[in-house]
Amino acid sequence: MMKYVDYGKLAATLVDLRTGDAVRLVAREDTREKAALCRRQGWTRHQAEVYAYKVMSNEELFHIEPVLVEVPIEDMPGPPLRRVMCEKCGEEVNDYREVMVAGKVLCRSCAYGGYYQRLGTRRLMDTVRTSP
Ligand SMILES: [Zn+2]
Repeated sequence: MMKYVDYGKLAATLVDLRTGDAVRLVAREDTREKAALCRRQGWTRHQAEVYAYKVMSNEELFHIEPVLVEVPIEDMPGPPLRRVMCEKCGEEVNDYREVMVAGKVLCRSCAYGGYYQRLGTRRLMDTVRTSP
């Protein structure tokens, strides 16, 4: 299972869900400079980076540290623990992501506003017709 969390960083945290063991990896700042040293005549910078990243050790590529991550049960892989219907839009909401507003069960888009704007099906059909 992969969960994307946007903190604006190039890092990854890996968790063994059976044991709880976790490590966090952050790309080292100097890997591009080290990769440039691997460059051979005729290679592009990209080719040198691909080669270098294959031969460099994990310690050369990343800062690695053990961390503690508490994974909520609703974020564990598997079928949803609970599914409710948003009383405004009618879409299903899984795993306790719903919110109560003035006594109504709502999805987060209906409660707080979505990350998108509805354009309607007419606009969708225009987009489909004009696409190559
Ligand atoms: Zn909704």
